[in-house]
Amino acid sequence: FNTERFGQHILKNPAIAQEIVDKANLRPTDKVLEVGPGTGNLTVRILEKAKHCTAVEMDPRMAAELTKRVQGKPEQRRLEIMIGDFVKAELPYFDVCISNTPYQISSPLVFRLLSHRPLFRVAILMFQREFALRLVAKPGSALWSRLSANVQLYAKVDHVMNVGKNNFRPPPNVESSVVRIVPLDPPPPVKFEEFDGLTRIVFSRRNKTVHASFQAKGVTEMLEKNWRTWCSEQNQMIEDDVNMKRKIEDILEETGYHESRAAKMDVNDLLKLLSAFHDAGIHFA
Ligand code: SAM
Repeated sequence: FNTERFGQHILKNPAIAQEIVDKANLRPTDKVLEVGPGTGNLTVRILEKAKHCTAVEMDPRMAAELTKRVQGKPEQRRLEIMIGDFVKAELPYFDVCISNTPYQISSPLVFRLLSHRPLFRVAILMFQREFALRLVAKPGSALWSRLSANVQLYAKVDHVMNVGKNNFRPPPNVESSVVRIVPLDPPPPVKFEEFDGLTRIVFSRRNKTVHASFQAKGVTEMLEKNWRTWCSEQNQMIEDDVNMKRKIEDILEETGYHESRAAKMDVNDLLKLLSAFHDAGIHFA
């Protein structure tokens, strides 16, 4: 195991570890999921407040250290350590997720949590500063991106605090930030793959017009293929002279998004556009 590759930067400032756990407002009935507990600086504080903690740790040496830390103490039986890669692990039920995340898995972590059912109540997660700022970015701001839209489709995200690199041992190369993620409940009735397919296209050139983004290589062909599949599933006749480019143009014009730019479109705009395509039988995934 290599410090950089597995992002093993241990939080050495106890005040910050405590603040992270406090931000979760844990209840005595809560089951907590922790990703990458390391030596357990957050874990022991979680166990003070919550009923149970499942900690997923990939490095067996770290897991052994954490085991030693709770050995023989009453909290030992309220901690389950799963040794393995979080990305592949089968997740238990949890009310809250707390994690000083290995930054390599930032994006899979967020989307895995948001697709988990039943929905959790809140997640308090530490990320590399740039990633955190993209998660919380608002439409029209410099960092509003496909990641921002995809996450904000499902959750309210707030910036909780900045954490400088000197609070870690060894210090990483980047600054960090803690964010709070609260899933929208109920979640919007949209398939993620569909929304993601649309944002992939419109954010491919976030400062160009939506109309220009749809002209990118392969887009029309992909949408026509999906449309043909949909038509045959619906037993719908396919016209001989299909003009997919025209269909797309019509939708963009009718919805009024032809000249819009992804950089300034909010989640609602994107949902309206997606729904207009769906009404025409055109799908993105
Ligand atoms: N939570 C501890 C703290 O705050 O001091 C340690 C944080 S350290 C940045 C990240 C931890 O995640 C390391 O212990 C590392 O071994 C573990 N880790 C890295 N990749 C992982 C993965 N894919 N699944 C589970 N744990 C992982």
